[in-house]
Amino acid sequence: MTAPDAIIVGAGPAGSAAAIGLARGGDNILLLDRARETGDALCGGFLSWQTLARLEMLGIDRASLGGQSVRFVRLFAGERRSETMLPGEAMGVSRRRLDSLLQAAAVAAGADLERGVHATAIDEGAVQTRDGATLAARSIFLATGKHGFRGFPREPAGWQRGDPVIGLRLRLPAHPALARLVGNAVELHLFDRGYAGLVRQEDGSGNLCLAVHKSRLDEANSDPAALLLSLGNALPRLGERLAHADWSRAVDAIGHVPYGWRTAESAPGLFRLGDQAGVIPSLAGEGMGLALASADAAVAAWRHGGGDAAPVFQRSLAAAMTRPFALANLVWRLGENPRTAGGMTRAASLFPSLARMVSHATRIDSR
Ligand SMILES: Cc1cc2nc3c(=O)[nH]c(=O)nc-3n(C[C@H](O)[C@H](O)[C@H](O)COP(=O)(O)OP(=O)(O)OC[C@H]3O[C@@H](n4cnc5c(N)ncnc54)[C@H](O)[C@@H]3O)c2cc1C
Repeated sequence: MTAPDAIIVGAGPAGSAAAIGLARGGDNILLLDRARETGDALCGGFLSWQTLARLEMLGIDRASLGGQSVRFVRLFAGERRSETMLPGEAMGVSRRRLDSLLQAAAVAAGADLERGVHATAIDEGAVQTRDGATLAARSIFLATGKHGFRGFPREPAGWQRGDPVIGLRLRLPAHPALARLVGNAVELHLFDRGYAGLVRQEDGSGNLCLAVHKSRLDEANSDPAALLLSLGNALPRLGERLAHADWSRAVDAIGHVPYGWRTAESAPGLFRLGDQAGVIPSLAGEGMGLALASADAAVAAWRHGGGDAAPVFQRSLAAAMTRPFALANLVWRLGENPRTAGGMTRAASLFPSLARMVSHATRIDSR
């Protein structure tokens, strides 16, 4: 078997999008994922109009996604509530659906997708796998997302070093009450040291994702379900939405989400994509948009200069992240602090254009 032109490690949105672009250009692409089946990753259920436009360029249109239309962003902080119309029509869709479509498009474009392959290291232009194989290629695209990868440490922004952020996810079953309460909005429930985001997805179920400092989970005896229940008691609007939760389902959790980290460092032949290039705080930032934008820019760079273009690609991607990351960090800091979250919510209701400006300015324009 001939060596592939490029190996992409991780078939999430960033890796699959890169595979589509590279394979369409006629390159021989090997796309690896450690998961044997595509599941519902944590998180990324909200897709903005810009991300939907990028997906369309990859051949995945709104109709094939078939998600819930999202027209409004609704903020809750203590007694305060605001609702703002989004600048464009967004969508709520499950990761299982989105990732499956992207992977199928990569295969249709000619990429080889190998599942159940767990990469453990990248050394001298080759990928080492858990089962002892060494896979070599001219270039490697690292797209393992929120999961840490040996040899590529990611330090979170300074404000969370003493108290790291963790991600939690619970699928809420479809229910008329959920449809009535959430409707065609993406909801952000702000609370001390974190937030919960809720959006309905293609089958009417709700994707509830939380980013919280670890100290909050510690207060709930490290039990994610207990934390959710206590938040539901303290925040009546969130409690209403949790009323029909199926507590027999596990709450997915991921530790140490390095919000605010980004890198300009790479080496010839190594492209870092998505959450392996930068992790934008998800309260205002859109990691899925970054994943697709980074893939698009990496494909363009590869076409222009092959593997040698990687360092320049990485530096210009990091530069494009500067302003969106600064703003997304600021919004996160205001939102997680009970003293400022109410003011932020009030400002969003008094000045809808401000909320729309933030939603534009936190998006990545990578080219
Ligand atoms: C609480 C929370 C809420 C969020 N909400 C949103 C949202 O609503 N909208 C949004 O746009 N973004 C959101 N995000 C961010 C978004 O989830 C990520 O930015 C996005 O998933 C990054 O995509 P990716 O392709 O880089 O990585 P991932 O989606 O993490 O995909 C990585 C892939 O790599 C595979 N993999 C991992 N390790 C290995 C390995 N060693 N070998 C082989 N394969 C491997 C995994 O199985 C996976 O398929 C949220 C994040 C958090 C923490």
